Amino acid sequence: MADARNIWQGIQLPSEEQYLACIRCGLCLSVCPTYRETLRETDSPRARLMLFRKVIAGELEMSHGFTDKMYRCLDCLACNAICPVGIKPGDLALAARSVIHQAKPQPWIKPLIFGGLFPNASLMETCMMPMLLYQRLGIQRVVNTLGLTRRLPTRLRDYERMLPSLPVRSLRHRLPETTPARGPRKYRVAFFLGCFQNMIFADASAATVRVLARNGCEVVTPKNVKCCGMPHLGYGDVATARALARHNIDILEKLDADAIITDCATCGSTLKEYGAHLLADDAEYRDKARAFSVKVKDVAEFLGAIPLREPEHPLKTRVTYHDPCHLRRGQNVWREPRRLLQLAGAELIELREADWCCGSAGTQAITHYASSMQILARKTENVAKTNAAIITAGCPGCQLQLGLGAQRAGLKVQVQHPIQLLDRAYNDR
Ligand code: SF4
Ligand code: SF4
Repeated sequence: MADARNIWQGIQLPSEEQYLACIRCGLCLSVCPTYRETLRETDSPRARLMLFRKVIAGELEMSHGFTDKMYRCLDCLACNAICPVGIKPGDLALAARSVIHQAKPQPWIKPLIFGGLFPNASLMETCMMPMLLYQRLGIQRVVNTLGLTRRLPTRLRDYERMLPSLPVRSLRHRLPETTPARGPRKYRVAFFLGCFQNMIFADASAATVRVLARNGCEVVTPKNVKCCGMPHLGYGDVATARALARHNIDILEKLDADAIITDCATCGSTLKEYGAHLLADDAEYRDKARAFSVKVKDVAEFLGAIPLREPEHPLKTRVTYHDPCHLRRGQNVWREPRRLLQLAGAELIELREADWCCGSAGTQAITHYASSMQILARKTENVAKTNAAIITAGCPGCQLQLGLGAQRAGLKVQVQHPIQLLDRAYNDR
């Protein structure tokens, strides 16, 4: 499906022959979480494909129902991976959102969030302040002690407990621009600090930088990178995603690093797409984008390719691992995080359906709460069977979702990034 021909206002769409390549084998249905929850054909990948084709051909109205089907897709990429004739229904659902974004008037909040908030790290940090104060002034503790959240509708209660303990200061204000290698410098790497990692999972990214430094990396962390662009792609705003990609390439290519490291599965898969797709038609940036994307590595992927120091304090903890969709299928990285956990000394318990989406997909818990929770329940059931003390996942969206799943099911399981366990095993602090 790579040679898309029809150009719909700047968006490349597949040709008629490509749509007709579907042999209706149904394999994509067997791996699609949205289909498996409802067992309705219209929630399946091949139906999304056909609905999109009919809308483009003008045979079907771009209705609310159509829009919802396209936005209900989790972008988990499972259908892309399994289709025997190479159709990528998941990619088409994203392309459909771009078409919807252009064709239909968008709610006023959308440009405000995607054009104003996401590209502005300071503004995002300011927006987190009320939640930070809620936690740090003890209001959350009082609210929970008095059981006030029990009066809230389940959905609001879930949002309240979804948020982990926030760092007082975002990581970009704490990390030095350059973290020297411990011992002889073997590599110079740039660290792409993602939005969620900066504001919410700062401990995980601080651990990433420490582990890299421990293994001979000089780590440069530019503070002026912007959002990777995935939220924009997910909501059809391709133009802003492209602008963000150009900005990030300009910042990072100057650093002349051996690799560009990220510890967020979604950031990593998006940064790797700059060259292959997002800027492939940009005459000025095409080559720079390709060279940039080749250097992008998930932290587990990078560490998996270099000699690592043995940890001094191996853990003896029972740990399981969830494969984030954008790491497993988006980047084909799945052995490496498991190896890191084993290197850390963890007793790794394989999770049943480890690569089945957790239902997060960034904002599905907000936009499609009921189906997101159904998909999460399946994941949580499998987590419970492992009896693990810690579940790990290298994606902030998955971590939030898994944490909520554990709370909803009353499981006493911590949620961490795999790199945090290796950091602990090095006992760096
Ligand atoms: S797996 Fe591919 S060929 Fe089979 S039904 Fe799905 S889209 Fe069609
Ligand atoms: S990307 Fe995932 S949720 Fe979307 S259609 Fe494919 S399998 Fe279903």
